[in-house]
Amino acid sequence: MPTKHRPTMRIGYGFDSHEFRPGIPLKIGGMTLPHDKGLGGHSDGDVLLHAITDALLGAIAAPDIGALFPPSDPKWNGADSVIFLREALRRTRDAKYAVANVDASLILAAPKIGPHTAAIRARIADLLAIPADCVGLKAKTPEGLNLENAAIAHVVVLLEAGKPAPTKKRKKR
Ligand SMILES: [Zn+2]
Repeated sequence: MPTKHRPTMRIGYGFDSHEFRPGIPLKIGGMTLPHDKGLGGHSDGDVLLHAITDALLGAIAAPDIGALFPPSDPKWNGADSVIFLREALRRTRDAKYAVANVDASLILAAPKIGPHTAAIRARIADLLAIPADCVGLKAKTPEGLNLENAAIAHVVVLLEAGKPAPTKKRKKR
């Protein structure tokens, strides 16, 4: 039987990328941003929510977003990525961990994220039920990467253990 090891903190890391396609809405961080192109591929293409979802799942060593919600399953075509984040959060809570903070880097040539940063942070904070000052978000342009038609997200998340399950043994007096 394996030894039970329960860290008081766990770190998770998520990465995702999607290609821009014309004529679809741009969803980033659970928000629809004004732009002439959106992100294609899995579900609604929300690259940031996908990376956060994978960071949460990774922190608790659960199967990743592609395993839980296969892109080949037509059920997830155009799906709201909030569904995936909520499932990752449910599993995190089942594992008796709470989100302490999240930090994300977004890499994309356009649109400018700056004007939307506060709204995206507030939306993610709301989804994760943590304060907005526990959500970091930096947007970068893909300098020298030749990736003008892609959006990329890197995310780290820190989990804190909740109250440990009560032990059956009582202290001897
Ligand atoms: Zn994705």
